[in-house]
Order: sequence, then structure tokens, then C-alpha cells
Amino acid sequence: MNQTSILSQAESISGEIIANRRHLHRNPELSFVEFNTSVFIQNALREIDIPFTIMGTTGVIALIGAGERCVALRADIDALPIDEETGLDFASTNPGVMHACGHDAHTAMLLGAAKILKTREAELGGVVKLIFQPGEEKVPGGASILIKEGVLSNPIPEAIFGQHVYPDTPVGEISFVSGPMMASADELYWTITGKGCHAAQPHQGIDPIMIAAEMIVHLQSIVTKMRNPLKPGVLAITSIHAGSVTNIVPDVVELKGTLRSFDNEWRHEALAHIKHHSESLAAMYGAVCEFKPLLGYPPLINNATAVEFARKTAETIFGAEVVSDFEPKMWGEDFAFYAQKIPACFWVMGVRPRDLSYLPGLHNAKFTPDEESFAKGSALLASVAIDWLSNPKPL
Ligand SMILES: [Zn+2]
Ligand SMILES: [Zn+2]
Repeated sequence: MNQTSILSQAESISGEIIANRRHLHRNPELSFVEFNTSVFIQNALREIDIPFTIMGTTGVIALIGAGERCVALRADIDALPIDEETGLDFASTNPGVMHACGHDAHTAMLLGAAKILKTREAELGGVVKLIFQPGEEKVPGGASILIKEGVLSNPIPEAIFGQHVYPDTPVGEISFVSGPMMASADELYWTITGKGCHAAQPHQGIDPIMIAAEMIVHLQSIVTKMRNPLKPGVLAITSIHAGSVTNIVPDVVELKGTLRSFDNEWRHEALAHIKHHSESLAAMYGAVCEFKPLLGYPPLINNATAVEFARKTAETIFGAEVVSDFEPKMWGEDFAFYAQKIPACFWVMGVRPRDLSYLPGLHNAKFTPDEESFAKGSALLASVAIDWLSNPKPL
């Protein structure tokens, strides 16, 4: 296959990819209510004769090609509850909602790849399954819902590929990593119930603030002393609410936080430790602690063979000099659910304008990825799928 020609084909539809992205950017919708976004995707697919089905209410699953083999490409389609501050002329027209994580670009890039793949349908060595996935930003994650609804069956993809725009590297740089790439991300909630009293008569109450203070410090010992130091982990208490005035000990303290890990086994052990330690510490003072974790996404573990495959394709198209190693981050990403089921590779694509040394990051109200990267993203998605299906099954 001539990958240069795929890149030039992608460059030739760059205007359309950018226009689609700007439309999506102007009309962002929150997780699981991406109704207009879904219709936009459906119409775009209809226009180029690509059949699709709907999953998870707003998810769109399209198939290109025929045959025994199948490979999947995924884009997420939801936006965030952020007030946009970019000042762009195609800024959000939906107050309080913004595509601040680049999912508008991911969707437009996958639509671009769809167009390229459709023109080459006869040459495909199998089926390319395009997954336009809702609700990446919100637990339980659209990926887990689509998987339950059968997105990875009929046909079963041999592997799945996805990408994320990345503000830390310049336009066109593609970065890969094998193994752990992003962390599990669980939400933690504590309610410590003591017994309120006059602050001058502490012996008549049970002070939940003192218990909370001790607990915040104590729980770090789970991460520093019970975790294998070779397995990264973060426990952060990020919210504490209690009390109102200087002379009353309140009844209740509420804490919130997050647990991050690259190791699913340790993650569940840590949650059990946190529960046990929190309850025991409160009980020691005669208080009651209710600990409620809300399980988020599992760690995202990339398959080495799939990564090597996609990396080779990227190096062929763009040159090895713009392909780099990604340093794993303890962010969460629901692509992890696919990676638990089938070999997966998630890569990041630089979107920082070349003349800037800093671009406001993901989930920032000023996030403005450089549009020059989008055609490259479409080319890479299409090329990886074509390459995968035209080579013997590597896995
Ligand atoms: Zn995000
Ligand atoms: Zn994202």
C-alpha cells in the first residue's frame, strides 16, 4: 500500500475534516446526551454510503469492507461542562459546555478516515469497524456500555486503535507506549459521623474533624508503605467539608478523593485497605466512617504487538523523527475497557502550534489544538486499519 498517497488523500480533504471539527466544536454536547452530534455523524456516514447502527443511544457503529477479518477504530464524541474561553469564531454556542478534551477533533478525524477507507473499500482485506463512542468523560464510560451492547462482537475485531490529541507535543508528533499508558481512576467518598458538641466541652462529643485530619495523613501510608514501590499509585484527598463556626464541633465531615493505579490487582487491594483503615480509625474514636468508592475506568494497558504495528505505520507515513515515546500519565481514559477485551493501541498526536512553547492543556477553557494535525490523524487511522487487514494477522 502506498501510505504517502493516503496522507495526500487526507491532506486533500483537510478542509472538510476541519469544517466538521469546527461544526462539532461550535455545538458541543455533554456525555450521554450527544444527540445532535450523533445525528451529525450519521448524516456524514450516510452521505458517503457507509452503513451504521446505533448503540448506547448516541453511539454510532459503522462498518466498511467485507470478509472474515475485522479491525476497529474508535473516536469519543462527548464534551465537558466547561465555559469556553478561547475566543474562537467557532467557539461553543452551548453555554457551559465545551469540547475541551479534543473529542470534536477525534470525531472529525475518524470521519475523515471513514471517507478515505470508503474510497479504498475494494482493496480492504476485511472489515473496518468505526466506533463513534459516547460518554468518555463520565463514569461508567461509554466504552463499557457499548461493550455490554456487543460492540466487540459481530464481527469481533482482532485489535482496536484510538488516538487522543495531545497539547504537550508539537503538531504532527505521534507518541506511543507499550503496556500501562493511563491509570485506573476511582472516585472516593467518605462520610465521618462523630457527635457534635460545644467546642469548649469536647468530652461530650466525638470530633470528626480531628478524625478526618488524622485519616488524611494516615491513609497516605497505604500508598507509601503497603504498595510495591515499583507499581505507581496516587491517593489524593481533594475535598473536605465540615463545620461552620468557631465554637461548635460538627457532627459530620465529608471527604472526597481519587485513587489512581496502573495495576488492577493493587487497585482493588488498595480500595479494601482504604475502607478497612478508614472504618477502623473512626471506630477507635467512637465515630462511624462510611467509605464509598465509585469505580472508574481500569488502567489503560496497550498491547505491545498492536503498538509496534501502529508505530511502524506512523514511522512509514510521517518519518521516524516525528514518532516518539509517550511517558505514561495517571489520567483516566475509558478506551481501557476495550483494551481489557482485545489487543489495543492508543496513541497521542501532538497539537501544539509549532510557534508556541505552551498550549493550555486538556480540560482547560482555553484549549485550542492546531488544526494542521487533523488530516494527519485521519491518515494514520486509515493507514493502520488498511495495513492491519492487508498483513497476516500479527496476533
Ligand atoms: Zn477528557
Ligand atoms: Zn479525552
